[in-house]
Amino acid sequence: MSSRAEVVVVGAGLAGLSAATRLAAADVDVQVLEAGTHVGGRLATERIDGFVVDRGFQVLNTGYPRAADLDLDALRLGWFRRGAVVRVDGRAHRVVDPRQAPGDVVGTATAPIGSLRDKAALAAFSLRSGYAPVDRLLASPERTAEQALRSAGAGDVALERFFRPFLAGVLLEDELATSSRYLDLLWRSFVRGSIGLPAAGMQAVGEQLAGRLDPERLHLRTAVRAVSRGSVVTDAGTWTAGAVVVATDPGTAARLLPAVEASAPRQVTTHFHVLPESPWREPLIVLGQPAGRLVNSVVLSDAQPRYSPDGRALVASSSLVTTREDEVRTEIAEAHGVAPSDLDHLTSVTVPGAQPAAVPPLQLRRPVDLGDGIYVCGDHRDTPSIQGAMASGARAARAVLRALRPTTAPDDRSAS
Ligand SMILES: Cc1cc2nc3c(=O)[nH]c(=O)nc-3n(C[C@H](O)[C@H](O)[C@H](O)COP(=O)(O)OP(=O)(O)OC[C@H]3O[C@@H](n4cnc5c(N)ncnc54)[C@H](O)[C@@H]3O)c2cc1C
Repeated sequence: MSSRAEVVVVGAGLAGLSAATRLAAADVDVQVLEAGTHVGGRLATERIDGFVVDRGFQVLNTGYPRAADLDLDALRLGWFRRGAVVRVDGRAHRVVDPRQAPGDVVGTATAPIGSLRDKAALAAFSLRSGYAPVDRLLASPERTAEQALRSAGAGDVALERFFRPFLAGVLLEDELATSSRYLDLLWRSFVRGSIGLPAAGMQAVGEQLAGRLDPERLHLRTAVRAVSRGSVVTDAGTWTAGAVVVATDPGTAARLLPAVEASAPRQVTTHFHVLPESPWREPLIVLGQPAGRLVNSVVLSDAQPRYSPDGRALVASSSLVTTREDEVRTEIAEAHGVAPSDLDHLTSVTVPGAQPAAVPPLQLRRPVDLGDGIYVCGDHRDTPSIQGAMASGARAARAVLRALRPTTAPDDRSAS
């Protein structure tokens, strides 16, 4: 079978969908070929015993610039509080953003995560990341996240009890070897935005973007085997196209396109449990302990009650090394102050290529136009995040439009 399109997009993750929806909106004949059975790529959700279970603990940060592309109201987000619970010697301490509830200033100021000087340093770091112009943040000398936090004034206690477990859950690495520039951008989005879960699970983000495309443009269960100038080979036949946008995960992109180098993949294992009820009064993530195997554990249904069919609490607990459920059950119970026997194991998932590493030197906004009518996008071209995937897809679409519609294409100066 041989088919023709003006543009073929390979992959229906957030990057591919962001590119395809922009191209379709510009009246380009675009077709999306997706190997899997769902849209949204790594943002995947299934229902297990009535619970909404994402493929690993993931959240939507409304501080991402590209969140502006989404209809957030339609996602019916449930919100986490900004902050975390830190357990020290068995006691739970809340470290929360005082802007949300000024009454929490005293509790946070006395939480055992370092001296007042450490906390003042955290506040100053947050102010700078959150409100300094992005260009200035990106012009700062680059170092590792740990070096940046230490030079901002964070001492050992603040690092080990708060920053390392908090950031390990986001960066999926606990050496804090990630680029300080990515840390700045990430922290900026935490300072500026809120963290939420869609009522129907994280896959709903991709489904919302896909819903803007004519269904006939979307071809699920269509794995692409090879890409070359003007041609895309699948098991079902060959597509010819004026432009091809490879929007797969980084490993597949590197296999399909010799010019692309894959960054090291970060992995995460997430265990899901059910508790008869939530032990907490508010939706806050509980951080892992310095000697433990978990980076965090969180009652998802506190933030998004629709994740539970009946008011029981759905708990997600993540580790960076592959763990078995029985190895971490006691640690999960201690995090929430419940008995291990209260935890009913629902499922566990390990995602080996959860996101690409972003170590120095950070190559932000890597080229998306590889020449010869071949384009590439995905979180490996920008930052390893929903934001990076969507921003790279938008950039790829602009590059394709410049080639195919030179008189009407938007320029690329607002490349957030
Ligand atoms: C457990 C976990 C937690 C995360 N938490 C967060 C978080 O809290 N916040 C955040 O911002 N980011 C988070 N991320 C990262 C975020 O999900 C990704 O950065 C983003 O979704 C990547 O999107 P993408 O479009 O670049 O790639 P993908 O989502 O990987 O999409 C690529 C698509 O290409 C398809 N494909 C692959 N090969 C082929 C082929 N040969 N032919 C056709 N199609 C193909 C795939 O099936 C897939 O649908 C998390 C990721 C994971 C796994």
